[in-house]
Amino acid sequence: MAAGAHGAPGKRTLVRKPGARFESFAIESKPMEAPGPTDALLVVDVQNDFLPGGALGIARGDAVVAPLNRLLAAWRARGLPVYLSRDWHPSGHCSFAAQGGPWPEHCVAGTTGAAFSPLLVTAPQDVVISKATRLDKDAYSALDGTPLAEELRRAGVRRLFIGGLATDYCVRATGLDARAAQLDVVVLTDAVCAVNVHPGDDERALAELAAAGCQMAPTDSVLAALGRSA
Ligand SMILES: [Zn+2]
Repeated sequence: MAAGAHGAPGKRTLVRKPGARFESFAIESKPMEAPGPTDALLVVDVQNDFLPGGALGIARGDAVVAPLNRLLAAWRARGLPVYLSRDWHPSGHCSFAAQGGPWPEHCVAGTTGAAFSPLLVTAPQDVVISKATRLDKDAYSALDGTPLAEELRRAGVRRLFIGGLATDYCVRATGLDARAAQLDVVVLTDAVCAVNVHPGDDERALAELAAAGCQMAPTDSVLAALGRSA
């Protein structure tokens, strides 16, 4: 059983050992190119409502915070750009159950539930991207109805590293949109977590992202690449 993924054709091959879970997909390639001025890190929706105990809490969602903080520290130490997306709904948003939507009320703009996790180390220079801010339109992708794609273009970003929540919704949609916007994408496999409304949604989302040309990489491999560039 093998799946091919070619973010840069001919440079890497994604292989799967029979019976192995997606996490054990191996990227056979030369070492990751060290992140530099044309790279950005996007942390997707690490907000209180998506963490255990939140209105739409994801089991073990808080496990993404530690690897993200490690990468954020190394990333900022090199002066590389960080973007933080957040679900930022008006009250009475169309995605809420009371309005006939699929989700309980969550991430209402300005509430504690919509705030970034206090465990996530943010910095004043990080660029915050609010999404799904319109009453009548939901948006899973951080590039949907936001200035992010234009900001990345203006900043000269060519490759986007993505971690956060949730693998099967906003990370998935963001990664696919970023590929459609001609960006190279690296999904941080240990810094994402899925809702898994249906068992296996996480693996399906990662497989879909890989098929769209996203590279799959654990945070440590990115840290190692950053270390080589130090
Ligand atoms: Zn939402």
